[in-house]
Amino acid sequence: MDLAEKLEILADSAKYDVACTSSGVERPGRAGRLGSCRAPGICHSFTPDGRCVSLLKVLLSNVCSYDCSYCVNRRSNDRPRASFTPRELAELTIGFYRRNYIEGLFLSSAVAGSPDATMERMIEALRILRQEYRFNGYIHAKTIPGADPLLVEQLGLLADRLSVNIELPSEASLVRLAPDKGRAAILRPMGQIARRSAHSRQELTVYRHAKAFAPAGQSTQMIIGATPESDRQILRLTEGGSMAPVQCLSCDATPCERRSECRTIAMWNELSRQINDYLDNITIADLMRKSDQQCPVEESAQDSHPSPAKNADMSINS
Ligand code: SF4
Repeated sequence: MDLAEKLEILADSAKYDVACTSSGVERPGRAGRLGSCRAPGICHSFTPDGRCVSLLKVLLSNVCSYDCSYCVNRRSNDRPRASFTPRELAELTIGFYRRNYIEGLFLSSAVAGSPDATMERMIEALRILRQEYRFNGYIHAKTIPGADPLLVEQLGLLADRLSVNIELPSEASLVRLAPDKGRAAILRPMGQIARRSAHSRQELTVYRHAKAFAPAGQSTQMIIGATPESDRQILRLTEGGSMAPVQCLSCDATPCERRSECRTIAMWNELSRQINDYLDNITIADLMRKSDQQCPVEESAQDSHPSPAKNADMSINS
């Protein structure tokens, strides 16, 4: 298979990932018109300073050992398969960059063999780009769930932004739709990246030449609507799963030995109850509603001394 065929397959396989601003439009070219929204391959993203950059969006491989029901690249799906070698991918990126087609790379991959083996090949591609070609452009890389933390560290030292797809709102949904992925394998790298990025920012304030780790931060995606979770569960997840005002009330906290004599626990419990009651009345549809430009939080602030009638209007439907 030649490089152009691989590119066609692997750019097409990457187009379903709607992480970029130019994804999600299906408008083919027409006679007498200029341009097409159908061809995959180039997407756009925003750098930390607000610039919009065009990226080569491609998979390193679409040969997958996993079988996530929502994914076109799942192993049970009959479709053309291809893989780049790390050097092929690096040279393709440099070739496009030199022709001014792109300003950076958005690299992801199916799980080709094992998570570690896949990540090692992604790291090698980025190493060739950064160290052999001295490529200084923007790189966004997706980590592979279940990969060793040392590999996540190496990837973060080569890429500007990392992402880990949270995939689905609960463990039960993961078991149902993505049985090869575990919640811990997704959440662990997210935590690692957050801690390591914070440490890197701190280091850079002290040592100007310290190596930056994923300086543009991390992002994630979640599939909504395929599983029965409520909006409330999803909204909670966006805040890390717990809305507890103090650590000792969060679900995974170890029981506090001084709880029985704590003077403040009743107050925190009541605050927690009020936060949960408030969130129970907000749906994602409310947050997305365009007709009313006011966000529920602002509404709530204005309603801090509400009239009884207005307070009753606060019930929000999905
Ligand atoms: S691991 Fe990734 S590429 Fe493979 S089936 Fe799941 S979502 Fe698709």
